[in-house]
Amino acid sequence: MKKEQEEKAVSKLNDIITLAERRGFFFPSCEIYSDAPSGFIDYGPNGIALKNKLIGAWREFLLKKDNMIEIDGSQIMAKSVFTASGHLTSFTDPLVDCSKCKSMFRADKLIEEKTGKIIPEKLKNEEYDKLLEKNKITCQKCGSKLGKAKRWNMMFQVGIGPEQREAYLRPETCQSIFVDFSRLFSTMRIKLPIGIAQLGKSFRNEVSPRQSLLRSREFTQAEVEVFFNPKKTEIAKFKDIENCKLRIQEDEKISEMTAKDAVKKKVVSSQLIAYYLSLMQQFGEKVGIPKDRIRFRKLSDGEKAFYAKEAFDFEILTSLGWIELAACNNRGDYDLCGHAKTSCKNLEVMDDNEKVLPWVFKLSMGIDRLIYIAMDLAFEKEMVKDEERAVLKLPANIAPIHVAIFPLVNKDGLPEIAQKIHKELKESFDVFYDFSGSIGKMYRRQDEIGTPFCITVDYQSKDDKTVTLRERDSMKQKRVKIDELKEVIEKALR
Ligand SMILES: [Zn+2]
Repeated sequence: MKKEQEEKAVSKLNDIITLAERRGFFFPSCEIYSDAPSGFIDYGPNGIALKNKLIGAWREFLLKKDNMIEIDGSQIMAKSVFTASGHLTSFTDPLVDCSKCKSMFRADKLIEEKTGKIIPEKLKNEEYDKLLEKNKITCQKCGSKLGKAKRWNMMFQVGIGPEQREAYLRPETCQSIFVDFSRLFSTMRIKLPIGIAQLGKSFRNEVSPRQSLLRSREFTQAEVEVFFNPKKTEIAKFKDIENCKLRIQEDEKISEMTAKDAVKKKVVSSQLIAYYLSLMQQFGEKVGIPKDRIRFRKLSDGEKAFYAKEAFDFEILTSLGWIELAACNNRGDYDLCGHAKTSCKNLEVMDDNEKVLPWVFKLSMGIDRLIYIAMDLAFEKEMVKDEERAVLKLPANIAPIHVAIFPLVNKDGLPEIAQKIHKELKESFDVFYDFSGSIGKMYRRQDEIGTPFCITVDYQSKDDKTVTLRERDSMKQKRVKIDELKEVIEKALR
């Protein structure tokens, strides 16, 4: 990114963070205390409303559409789980500390910042040492010499009971799905292929959390593990999406091709994988991400995990550049194999008289990232009559509030009319009632929350039973009969 562009991106990030804090979207956790650790975030009422709507869309357009099942696993899990998954040995980031002030940094990020090149997380420690020296990189805080690179394991360890038995906060939600798989398969009368989903918190002890929601130590994941028979990747439901146009980036070039062509040209290995990529893309579009800001970046062999058969990052173009929203990863039998071996349990299942250890295609999305992306795409600053207006042009289906209602003055029978409208509309929409301050200020507040409509009850309302309906993006106002409000709003939300 060019310098000017970069400054603009950072200033937008800061604008969104201050708006989020000012309007009850999200803010730092434990902020009244000086020992509040960084990388933890609390959501306020508007943030949780946005979050719930995005999660609702995930359930509606992914889980329900594909008849998946959902579980809710515990956040603390046994040590053995992470021995089997490999996290205890390899879930690490490269770390360097300052020889003088002891500040700690991610070695790869320091080199990236200095050189502008992408540095893999999985180089050998000596390779980082060489790069740090070659680029003359010193401590960012005090300028002193840095120590040698080492590996930092990001798992949060906890002690269970008074005997403090070793266990861990999960670093990803998928492990419960793997360890529960055998029970779910036998009790839920399911057949391969089957998507098993989970929404929940995950924890990673990052060296340096940054960019607010984009890299925090506690975050919400929405994951799907599709279990399938590797010999049966041609699936009937592929027909439903075969003409869906996927945007896939391979070797620096984005091409748009139908799911059918993607399989034919072997850009995607099978119908099954292409089907789930299509669902993911359709979900993105349903929550208002424009298609030209979406891409599946096919990872090269050097980038993807060693066990991955194929991997795509589902990325969205924001003002900070392309951000990974979800990892779509064909993990083969790596997970079930690891758990079968460590637990000494047979995790094979029957598929039409054949015993198989299923493969897994994983679609793992960060909900906090999705919230940030939605706000980044919606945020605008514009001049209105010499005054700056900040507005979140969120798609109406994910806006925290659909309609806000104000009486022009808090007397002369106007609040009673407004409250009656509030009560009626509440049954169909998310509605907010406000009566403090000037109408202009109340409009601005709702603009910043992303409320698509504001209704004002004035003296004319008493005479002709109409109100003013103001539209967020155009700021146009029109008079609408109170009786017709519901219909007008419903139509617009659709
Ligand atoms: Zn230092």
